[in-house]
Amino acid sequence: MLSIRNLKASIEGNHILKGINLEIHPGEVHAIMGPNGSGKSTLAHILAGREGYVVEDGEVIFEGKNLLELAPEARAREGLFLAFQYPIEIPGVSNTTFLKTALNEIRKHRGLPELDAMDFLTLVRKRMKLVDMDPSLLGRPVNEGFSGGEKKRNEILQMAVLEPRLAILDETDSGLDIDALKTVANGVNSLKNKDNATLVVTHYQRLLDYIVPDYVHVLYDGRIVESGDKTLALDLERKGYDWIKAKSGESR
Ligand code: ADP
Ligand code: MG
Ligand code: MG
Repeated sequence: MLSIRNLKASIEGNHILKGINLEIHPGEVHAIMGPNGSGKSTLAHILAGREGYVVEDGEVIFEGKNLLELAPEARAREGLFLAFQYPIEIPGVSNTTFLKTALNEIRKHRGLPELDAMDFLTLVRKRMKLVDMDPSLLGRPVNEGFSGGEKKRNEILQMAVLEPRLAILDETDSGLDIDALKTVANGVNSLKNKDNATLVVTHYQRLLDYIVPDYVHVLYDGRIVESGDKTLALDLERKGYDWIKAKSGESR
């Protein structure tokens, strides 16, 4: 589904990603962990098509297409979804309108009929239960004045409504209390199926108590220096990142 090969990228002349390799297949949940500043968000932003980054080498193939050549909207239409560390606010556009427009664009691209207002509301209400979100948030401008927890729930709601092939969640756990964290994880887990995949980017092991990954990768200084199963996340929790730093020093 997603194939990242030798991805090297910089921002404002600083080399951040130094040769990332990663393969994600349908049905898999991957977690990328790593200390602050290792390049996790940079990777997520480049996959999303955010401006300002220079890709210097390598390629990213998503569902057979050269992802880096697609505009951000085209990536979304192809089934890529990104939830950010700091979700954006869209003043003047209600959550309902935003979600309905986005969903119908994706459906059109997949050759499916548009959902009318009634069908859309039925769907969105069902999905809101999944993330335990207050229905009044539907009528409000996207994320405007939402609390941290409400923004995160809203992201998972977007994901639940849009049903992406690949969802990338960057630090979805930051700033969440334990109940909100469980709710978000529960939403992610119940959307999982054999045709979609999730990439969870997180600094802490905590989220992975609830979203159980099939694979865990450690990003350090722009490279994936260690990969393993979920026990790797527990090792990191116990031992910290110092042993990874030592190890990555040895391998150079
Ligand atoms: P992480 O998400 O793993 O904490 P980031 O991808 O946010 O790491 O950052 C990786 C590195 O890139 C850091 O050293 C950070 O200072 C640097 N960086 C991020 N954005 C910029 C920018 N706009 N200009 C210069 N350096 C940046
Ligand atoms: Mg960070
Ligand atoms: Mg980050």
